[in-house]
Amino acid sequence: MLELVRDFVNTYDVENDADELTSPAELALWLRERGLAGEGDRAEDDDLATAIALREGLRAALRREPADLPELPLRVVIADGPRLTPVRPGVPGALARVAAAVLDPGWERLKVCLEGTCQWAFIDSSKNRSRSWCSMKVCGNRTKTRAYRARKHGSRRPQGSNTDTV
Ligand SMILES: [Zn+2]
Repeated sequence: MLELVRDFVNTYDVENDADELTSPAELALWLRERGLAGEGDRAEDDDLATAIALREGLRAALRREPADLPELPLRVVIADGPRLTPVRPGVPGALARVAAAVLDPGWERLKVCLEGTCQWAFIDSSKNRSRSWCSMKVCGNRTKTRAYRARKHGSRRPQGSNTDTV
């Protein structure tokens, strides 16, 4: 379920600084809506901290940077190949299931947008897995325009000013 990892990473919208997971209750709701947690499952502050650490660890991993993921209750099970299975119920188990999805086929297709202000997670379905941006139209062009502008104005730009508009 790469979509699960993608959607989980995208609960934080870097560009708009909008976070869907700002309280334990919101975390429990998000997991419930995806069938990962049950009606009676409650999240604690610790679970929220684990979720955020997991999310930002996964985002770093999708930028292809070394990533430390938080400790999660998982066991290695070997049946038709190795997989990770949560060993606890409730919200910790649900977060463990999100993390376990990194072993699902196609991990290399899961990326975050190369545009630093965006970092939206997406699944690269292009044939040669060459996609770098969530959208060529928006972020691809933005990156290219900026590179062009930097080449054109680079040295003349006064230090410390930030006049970039998006
Ligand atoms: Zn983007």
